[in-house]
Amino acid sequence: MALDLIRNFVGGEYLDGGSGFDNINPVDGTVVSSVMEADRGIVEKAVAAARKSLSGPWGRYTASQRAAIMRRIAERIEARSEDLLRAEIADTGKPEALARELDISRASLNFRAFADIIASSGADSFLTEFADGRRALNYALRKPLGVVAVVVPWNLPLLLLTWKVAPAIACGNAVVVKPSEETPSTATLLGEIMKEAGLPDGVYNVVHGFGENSAGEFLTKADGVDGITFTGESSTGSAIMRAAAPSVRPVSFELGGKNAALVFADADIEKAVNGLSRSIFTNTGQVCLCTERVYIQRPVFEEVVAGLVEKAKMLKLGRPTDPGTTTGPLISQKHRDKVLSYFRKAEDEGGTAVIGGMVPEMPAELANGSWIMPTLWTGLSHDSSPMREEVFGPVAGLVPFDSESEAVRLANDTRYGLAASVWTENLERGHRVGAQMNTGISWVNTWYLRDLRSPFGGSGLSGIGREGGKNSLHFYTEPTNICIKLSEEEAL
Ligand code: NAD
Repeated sequence: MALDLIRNFVGGEYLDGGSGFDNINPVDGTVVSSVMEADRGIVEKAVAAARKSLSGPWGRYTASQRAAIMRRIAERIEARSEDLLRAEIADTGKPEALARELDISRASLNFRAFADIIASSGADSFLTEFADGRRALNYALRKPLGVVAVVVPWNLPLLLLTWKVAPAIACGNAVVVKPSEETPSTATLLGEIMKEAGLPDGVYNVVHGFGENSAGEFLTKADGVDGITFTGESSTGSAIMRAAAPSVRPVSFELGGKNAALVFADADIEKAVNGLSRSIFTNTGQVCLCTERVYIQRPVFEEVVAGLVEKAKMLKLGRPTDPGTTTGPLISQKHRDKVLSYFRKAEDEGGTAVIGGMVPEMPAELANGSWIMPTLWTGLSHDSSPMREEVFGPVAGLVPFDSESEAVRLANDTRYGLAASVWTENLERGHRVGAQMNTGISWVNTWYLRDLRSPFGGSGLSGIGREGGKNSLHFYTEPTNICIKLSEEEAL
């Protein structure tokens, strides 16, 4: 189901009001829906509805009651999966199989995983004992932050939104979500699902619009917001940090990346090429974890380049529902202009496109879509812009190296620090090199494999803090330490 009119969801009701903007299908440039942009008043109403819910019954739910409701949300997501799938595809143009496997199934998993995590989480406690006989018991109560602003991007809309909403709700917060202007539909449908699952009104709210001088900025600056969790570009993170500064609001940021892969001559080359190809081209390269720099040990350089070119040739661009489609368009014409600017820079800065490097010829009915050819470059210097800046498209620069230390130095010579992958059959090397990566995650012989209990995030321009498992619980709560004297002797 694709919605025709996308409205804001406030206090359990869809609100009319605000001015409309078009939501464009990137496959063919047609208008999917009209979106009601939240003005400052609507954003303030959403924050007030969220705050009100905290002083109602929701504020008294126990952790196991919250876990139970989250499992019902997961069930309703599964029951409504076709609606969510159609909406996600219409907004993003991504292949149906990918949306089904990646986006929709992870949405319910996010709620189930954090239901389990909150139901089994306990309080940190310390028995304090001094040599003179004084004793005390310390335990830390974790209270919800309060109203959490959740600002998310367009590349994995429902997955990334639920990755933050699920732990926030698990911890007893209320949320106001600002989905990307490019992908407003699934966040909106989730409002219905929350109601069906019995989540009290006001715990989940959605405001639509853009960033600067629109819903994003209004929300991150609104009075009554207690914390901000954000996924998106590093430069936006910087703007949101400025918005959070006057009230010293806690922030959790998952930002951009310029992720490296290191392919050693002792790798299983066939497996490495398969894994690398997924890591470069999945979702048309629009995953923050996608590889954009591939360092290949010289003896296997030609073989890996040839293997990746073959893989790129096998990609099939097309409508999301066409059988065999592997690759959708970029999210918008604006984003394609950005990616194309890197095609020009690559050429100007000494690179050679061994495949791609241009806009593909598409059938007439898709001519207005934001299509781009999967592209691999050789010959780029380490300092060239396509090797240093996040492109966020189906692209990678392929560069030879000689020694392990050189590969580690090149991979770490970046201002980003999100993800890396190491390809080797030498287990010792895998551990050694993986540990030297200055990234939030470093994979060995795989890519994208995730355990939702493990820390996720990045360093440098890639973010602040970690989410996942107890890391999420720590961000979405404030501890109060209770210290009880157990002995007669007075502490100082
Ligand atoms: P973006 O930063 O342009 O937008 C993200 C969200 O922020 C949108 O909802 C947007 O409307 C809002 N926004 C923009 N300016 C704002 C402002 N001044 N104040 C408040 N809100 C504002 O990012 P995008 O183009 O939607 O997404 C792509 C980026 O996201 C890439 O850089 C990618 O690497 C990153 N990303 C990171 C992760 C991660 O986990 N680290 C995951 C996915 C995407």
